[in-house]
Amino acid sequence: MSFRSLLAAGVAAVALVGAAPAGAQDTTPATGSGSFEIEFDTFKKKNRHAAGILRRSGAMQALVEEVNSRWAIPRDIPIVFGDELEVGPAFIPEVKLPDGAELTFINVPGNFLRLQLQQFRRAIKRERIRSLKPADAFVYSTEFVLAHEIGHALVHELKLPVTGKEEDAVDGFAAFLLADNERFGPMTAISAAMFFDLYSRLRGKLTDEDFADEHSILEQRVYNFLCWVYGSDPKRFKGLVGKDLLPRERAVRCSNEWKQLTTSWETLLKPYQKMPGTPAESAAPAA
Ligand SMILES: [Zn+2]
Repeated sequence: MSFRSLLAAGVAAVALVGAAPAGAQDTTPATGSGSFEIEFDTFKKKNRHAAGILRRSGAMQALVEEVNSRWAIPRDIPIVFGDELEVGPAFIPEVKLPDGAELTFINVPGNFLRLQLQQFRRAIKRERIRSLKPADAFVYSTEFVLAHEIGHALVHELKLPVTGKEEDAVDGFAAFLLADNERFGPMTAISAAMFFDLYSRLRGKLTDEDFADEHSILEQRVYNFLCWVYGSDPKRFKGLVGKDLLPRERAVRCSNEWKQLTTSWETLLKPYQKMPGTPAESAAPAA
């Protein structure tokens, strides 16, 4: 995988130049039931710059508004960005607190934000790329990562069936939610592919632990993301296929793969779908 060819293909397909990730819209999410709630907590000094870019972009808020406006969940799930807990990005269900209470939340630590921004900065500088700003790539990629964690939360909260690896399934959810959504778009999945590609180079030689991991190997996830974006509109994204990019042997299956993925998520989430303009209670399934 070549960062430069991936970027060139992605940017050309999306005609992104000058575009920035979606900011928060002035819409009131449906009330009355559970919702995802963003919290920006405190950060260590070294992580504050990346965290500030992300917070000011409004993109996390926009993403959560999108999810809250579409599906009803039974209880509130906080999404915490901060350095209080240096784990994740992760969906953390039913943690017992010292006072006996239980907490279910998504955690995104500052180190992860800084690492992403740093990797994009270095790669974009090294390749002398002008058409994509590191800060934008970082925000796009974080949108994809947060959507992945929200996917875990939906699977858990709604007790959705999953056959196969949940990690792959919720990567699919992130693509389903964002890639052909006008407000977010394919640069989310393409930027996540770029970041995972860069991240895989920091890892060194693959070990047994990598093969045993509940996640697919980073490189496999990169090709999945590219396959789904390509499959969502093969004509528009034909530039993602070829040498150093998505191999043709996989590409021929991606259109069907994308259809299967989006139909499956639509089917699974249909019972929880909110009707436009109706309160969450009346749209939530009985039982
Ligand atoms: Zn995961």
